[in-house]
Amino acid sequence: MTDSVDTTRYARVAVERGIDRYPDGLTYRVPNELCDIRLGDFVSVPLGRGDAEVHGVVVGLGSDELLDSRLMPARIKAISSIDRTSDPMPSTVVRLAQWISSYYCAPIGVTIAGITPSAVRKGVGRIKRIAVELVPEQDPACTESPSKQIRLHPKRQAVLDALARHLPSDLPIDIEALQTECGLATRAPILALIKSGHLRATHRTSVQAKWGASSMDERRIPEPTLDQMTVIESISRALDRGFSQHLLFGVTGSGKTEVYLRLATQVLAAGRSVLYLVPEISLTPQTAGRIVGRLPRERMAILHSGLTAAQRHEQWIVATRPGAKIVIGARSAIFAPIPDGELGLIIVDEEHDQSYKQDQSPRYHGRDVAIRRAQLSSCPVILGSATPSLESWWNATTRGVSQLHQLPHRAPGLLTPRVEVVDFRRETALRRDRRVHLVGPTLEFALRQCFAAGGQAIVLLNRRGYANWIACPDQECGWMMQCAHCEIGMVVHHDRSGGALLRFARCHHCQAEQKVPTRCPRCAKSATIFGLGTQRVEEELARLFPDLVSRNQIARVDSDSMSDASDFHEILGRFGRGECRMLLGTQMIAKGLDFPNVQVVGVISADTALNLPDFRASERTFQLVAQVSGRCGRSQIPGRAIIQTFQPDAEPILAAARQDYPEFARQELEVRKRFGLPPVHRMARVVIRHETREEAERIATTVCRALAALPEASGVIIRGPAPCPIARIADRWRIQIEVLAESPARLQQFLAAARSRAILSPGEVMAIDVDPVALL
Ligand code: ADP
Ligand code: ZN
Ligand code: ZN
Repeated sequence: MTDSVDTTRYARVAVERGIDRYPDGLTYRVPNELCDIRLGDFVSVPLGRGDAEVHGVVVGLGSDELLDSRLMPARIKAISSIDRTSDPMPSTVVRLAQWISSYYCAPIGVTIAGITPSAVRKGVGRIKRIAVELVPEQDPACTESPSKQIRLHPKRQAVLDALARHLPSDLPIDIEALQTECGLATRAPILALIKSGHLRATHRTSVQAKWGASSMDERRIPEPTLDQMTVIESISRALDRGFSQHLLFGVTGSGKTEVYLRLATQVLAAGRSVLYLVPEISLTPQTAGRIVGRLPRERMAILHSGLTAAQRHEQWIVATRPGAKIVIGARSAIFAPIPDGELGLIIVDEEHDQSYKQDQSPRYHGRDVAIRRAQLSSCPVILGSATPSLESWWNATTRGVSQLHQLPHRAPGLLTPRVEVVDFRRETALRRDRRVHLVGPTLEFALRQCFAAGGQAIVLLNRRGYANWIACPDQECGWMMQCAHCEIGMVVHHDRSGGALLRFARCHHCQAEQKVPTRCPRCAKSATIFGLGTQRVEEELARLFPDLVSRNQIARVDSDSMSDASDFHEILGRFGRGECRMLLGTQMIAKGLDFPNVQVVGVISADTALNLPDFRASERTFQLVAQVSGRCGRSQIPGRAIIQTFQPDAEPILAAARQDYPEFARQELEVRKRFGLPPVHRMARVVIRHETREEAERIATTVCRALAALPEASGVIIRGPAPCPIARIADRWRIQIEVLAESPARLQQFLAAARSRAILSPGEVMAIDVDPVALL
């Protein structure tokens, strides 16, 4: 450092504020005493007039080249301190954050804050520990020590002897472990040895957290089939050859997990690390158990929403340790601090899943970030699904940027489920009474047969609550109960937790609650309640199967019935042990579950997803029906899936029943091409939000005009401004502008130009969503 005293060093710091004026971070001076600063270090810096200390991360280091015309060198503040108890963020992760900030139009500070667990940023669960090792004999400082000649106290000698028995690779050893090993009542003898220069102490930080024992999967390891072998061999040839992208399209139950596990084992054996992403909801003990049972637990970090802050921090630290390891987790695990140069493979299971997209800033897509991280780390990435997203399918079959691998058959011993589409109108006509029925005779009969044979069942309805309409029966009056804060109908909910039935209306967008009116407020006719919800289905199933209810064998799984992830884990545990016979729930139960005794799957209404005002409605419906049907037939007993629908001729439903993804994709891509929609074109959506409708409209119009006037706007299609499908949420009016471009590069150029001119500035009023997956 002595020869560089003349050049002042600067750092770019991303602070946790939504400042978008400095997309590369704020510039600070590096004081001499902090000259060992590293990229990715967690630091404290003064911010604003009052110089309030804020946390941040170093995202750039350099000298004068970091200064721009806006900055006066004399007024640049200095970094206050470096948090030396945390390892710096690996530079790959810093670069990933910079890419996200630019690609997804999010301020760098918000991005960094959004990708590091708050427990890590705040140091939750971190405690200081002391580790000790012997000072080598030849150390001159030690031989001069007078205490060396004196005969040691037996307790101290015992400590030295114990340390000498350890392999050098085990050292330094934790002071508490050493104390226990020597059977000492206090640490005093060890501390004395540190003082006398016999031992060297290092301060280590670690986090302590209790880790609940994961249930291990006892199933034996299957011999891979020929199809599986072909895929494994073909992808393993790509290992150690830099970046490559693979799409594993394998029908439900084809044994994709087996392919991942074998490839992961190969990568670990070669001394490199693996990142394994699964949708949040798949991180059940079942999935974890299958992986834990096959790979070394001590080299595994598992990150999911069911962890406490301290556990999350502990798992994060496991990921930072050098050496081959596997990190398993949902979306945000893609930012796991695996050291640079160590990553050998990234796996994204159920890559089509919507939960990979974050719905607040930074609005990144975990799958696409995974592809980016694989590029930055020069390693292969595998995307796997039975129902690939059209984006991934397009990449593999048309753009040729990804290699397609297929598993067209179910694993040996699994039978293909029989999928029956039933016309719900005819089903209800078969019922003689005048009651509302949500479970038709076909599904009811199939369930009865299944339970009689000792089987289990899964029943899906993609909507929470009891019923979703509260309206006036008089068509001319036309009143419908809307949320007072949103432009959307309210949903009736029942609560029996207090014994008596409590009925109320809840808004699923702002969570506001109201009493359910008995009469129409306009014409005083008595209000009617209709539509579907999981609670209503539960009520009907309870009426049909009183025996199951009395034995507590029906479980409803939706975000109302469970307070956190551990409730879900517990229910799945009961279902796995056969204590529970029927699972009823929302799409949470449609994915990834592998229970051999499930003989019947019922879909109450395949129409709920089909009628959404979103160009992905068909794709969602296909995925839902195909995925949930795939939950049965996972053993020698043939499975039956009964799909109730008002639109029995709808192509996505029929294609899913035939399990014909390629044909569905072909037809759907034709539609996307014709209308210039993703994945054929790239989309960004800008939503303006404001308390008054006029102001929202005014801002949106101004933004839209300014966007259209940009030179970069040629070749870009700008649609809008138009009200969002839900025109107001939580008292804010919402106006959208859609931008479509032929290529990602074109779209990026356009967005960057608009951002640098501050036409687009993400924040309270404006939300920018690049590659949106939901358009409500
Ligand atoms: P997918 O993820 O493709 O839906 P899974 O990996 O869950 O499929 O596999 C379904 C079931 O088939 C699992 O119980 C798994 O243990 C079993 N299985 C996978 N591969 C084989 C194989 N080669 N031989 C026998 N059983 C297999
Ligand atoms: Zn509302
Ligand atoms: Zn009325």
